[in-house]
Amino acid sequence: MTDIVIVGGGHAGVQLCGALAATGLSARVHLVCEEPVLPYQRPPLSKGYQKNADATLQWHRGDAWFAEHGITLHLGDPAIAVDRAGRSVTLASGRVLPYGWLVLATGTRARRLPHLPDGLANVHVLRTAADAERLRAAWAGSRSLTVLGGGFIGLEVAATARALGKDVCVLESAPRLMQRAVSPELSAHVEGVHRASGIDVRTGVAVGGFEVDGDRLAALQAGGERLAVDTLLLGVGAVPEHSLASACGLDCDNGIVVDEHLRTSDPQVLAIGDCTSFPEPTSGRRLRLESVQNANDQAKAAAASILGAPQPYRALPWFWSEQGTMRLQMAGLMPPDGERLRRPGATPASFSWLHYAGGRLACVESVNAPMDHMAARRLLELGRSPDPAQAVDPAVPLKSFVP
Ligand code: FAD
Repeated sequence: MTDIVIVGGGHAGVQLCGALAATGLSARVHLVCEEPVLPYQRPPLSKGYQKNADATLQWHRGDAWFAEHGITLHLGDPAIAVDRAGRSVTLASGRVLPYGWLVLATGTRARRLPHLPDGLANVHVLRTAADAERLRAAWAGSRSLTVLGGGFIGLEVAATARALGKDVCVLESAPRLMQRAVSPELSAHVEGVHRASGIDVRTGVAVGGFEVDGDRLAALQAGGERLAVDTLLLGVGAVPEHSLASACGLDCDNGIVVDEHLRTSDPQVLAIGDCTSFPEPTSGRRLRLESVQNANDQAKAAAASILGAPQPYRALPWFWSEQGTMRLQMAGLMPPDGERLRRPGATPASFSWLHYAGGRLACVESVNAPMDHMAARRLLELGRSPDPAQAVDPAVPLKSFVP
């Protein structure tokens, strides 16, 4: 019997437990969790959990499920060292877990700013359940919210705070919102909707000059203007958590480096989810994605590797975000340039942008158009088939998708 140790009880780690359990594998499985609570869904933390004071964490699985499937949970007991030669993992409690397979699913940490001290009472990040609870508790005493960073999480919280009646200001250093992930067209639309709801959105603005008063951030400088701060959310992205991997000598470069089968530089150690840098099959370049889809699909591919039937990881990337009245859904990877077409929806608030690379559909961004998103995913998945007989004619998506 091979012991499988999974470090990290997030989306990827729990999905791997599910995939292994589904095969009836008789291995002993250990799920090592730094956080002291049962593994939970992270996306609601910036959405329903902030809107509703009574919302509770949504568990991936109840503790009975783990017990029934022979999975030992180690809650609040992070892994602190890996001995690759001796094939064992040491936990903070001192417990040593031998492994046949080790899977690192350590996710990311919220990025901090070097000139903004940690531990200020009115400054928040949003990554964990504890962060979410602390932020939600702050709403009662806050008049206003300043969001540093115009990415998905910052904008989701900004929209919620606005709906709760707070004055909201979003400060983004890039020239447009969500610049790394979406097209200029979608950025412009989202900015317009947030502005119309009363959010003060400022892009291309340099932020600094943090004024600390006791344990609070009192003000900051944004584009030369002094802005008083009541509550601040630092939404400036996330960094891959690969300290354990680096310390045991695994290759890391913007994440734990894995091959198409999720194998690290040690073939008995796999890595999955937000913490990995993997070869993207269509372009060949290395990619690190932060999405539930990527975590889940990499976990399934890792299970196949463990079961001795490796499948190269080729899943289509897709993502969603909920910002006030907008449900954004993206499928595929945005090409750097190329033809763009707007597919109108039933209302002005509903539409999709179709992005083509070399005449071939590469990415679809949908706003309040879930049927477009599902259709796009089907088309794009066909287009990625490694089997030429299965691959769709590149002209078909263009003809069939645009009315
Ligand atoms: P995580 O879920 O981050 O889990 C990693 C776990 O590993 C953590 O629990 C961490 O504590 C643990 N860990 C780290 N080091 C150790 C150690 N040494 N020992 C033990 N445990 C360790 N994605 C979407 O697709 N759509 C969304 O709408 C969306 N919304 C989001 C909203 C928020 C607020 C956040 C934070 C993320 C959101 N995401 C969303 C991203 C999505 O949640 C992540 O992509 C996903 O959680 C990645 O799963 P993961 O298992 O790789 O990492």
